[in-house]
Amino acid sequence: MAVPKKKKSKASTASRRATWKLEAPGLVECPRCHGARMPHRVCPQCGHYDGKEIIKIKED
Ligand SMILES: [Zn+2]
Repeated sequence: MAVPKKKKSKASTASRRATWKLEAPGLVECPRCHGARMPHRVCPQCGHYDGKEIIKIKED
Protein backbone atom coordinates (compact mmCIF):
# COMPACT_ATOMS: atom_id res chain seq x y z
CA MET A 1 0.00 0.00 0.00
CA ALA A 2 1.23 3.48 -0.81
CA VAL A 3 2.22 5.41 2.31
CA PRO A 4 3.29 9.09 2.27
CA LYS A 5 7.06 9.40 2.48
CA LYS A 6 6.98 11.64 5.60
CA LYS A 7 4.93 9.02 7.50
CA LYS A 8 7.65 6.35 7.17
CA SER A 9 10.55 6.63 9.59
CA LYS A 10 14.12 6.26 8.34
CA ALA A 11 14.49 3.29 10.68
CA SER A 12 11.59 1.34 9.17
CA THR A 13 12.79 2.11 5.65
CA ALA A 14 16.30 1.00 6.60
CA SER A 15 15.11 -2.20 8.25
CA ARG A 16 13.03 -3.14 5.19
CA ARG A 17 16.02 -2.50 2.90
CA ALA A 18 18.31 -4.50 5.20
CA THR A 19 16.68 -7.71 3.91
CA TRP A 20 17.87 -7.06 0.33
CA LYS A 21 20.53 -9.54 -0.65
CA LEU A 22 22.84 -9.82 -3.62
CA GLU A 23 22.36 -13.03 -5.55
CA ALA A 24 25.22 -14.78 -7.27
CA PRO A 25 24.66 -15.27 -11.01
CA GLY A 26 24.06 -18.83 -12.16
CA LEU A 27 27.29 -20.08 -13.68
CA VAL A 28 28.08 -23.56 -14.96
CA GLU A 29 31.24 -24.99 -16.49
CA CYS A 30 31.29 -25.46 -20.26
CA PRO A 31 31.90 -29.17 -20.99
CA ARG A 32 33.95 -28.31 -24.08
CA CYS A 33 36.27 -25.47 -23.05
CA HIS A 34 35.71 -25.61 -19.26
CA GLY A 35 35.08 -21.88 -19.09
CA ALA A 36 32.22 -20.35 -17.13
CA ARG A 37 28.94 -19.80 -18.92
CA MET A 38 25.34 -19.22 -17.98
CA PRO A 39 23.07 -22.30 -18.00
CA HIS A 40 21.03 -23.03 -21.16
CA ARG A 41 23.01 -20.51 -23.21
CA VAL A 42 25.65 -20.70 -25.92
CA CYS A 43 29.15 -20.61 -24.45
CA PRO A 44 30.71 -17.16 -25.02
CA GLN A 45 34.24 -18.60 -25.17
CA CYS A 46 33.84 -21.43 -27.71
CA GLY A 47 30.43 -20.70 -29.24
CA HIS A 48 29.14 -24.23 -28.64
CA TYR A 49 25.88 -25.50 -27.21
CA ASP A 50 24.77 -29.14 -26.82
CA GLY A 51 27.96 -30.33 -28.55
CA LYS A 52 27.33 -28.26 -31.69
CA GLU A 53 28.95 -25.05 -32.89
CA ILE A 54 26.24 -22.40 -32.82
CA ILE A 55 28.21 -19.19 -33.35
CA LYS A 56 31.69 -18.63 -34.80
CA ILE A 57 34.20 -17.18 -32.33
CA LYS A 58 37.26 -15.41 -33.76
CA GLU A 59 40.48 -17.09 -32.66
CA ASP A 60 43.62 -15.03 -33.18
ZN1 LIG B 1 32.88 -23.37 -24.14
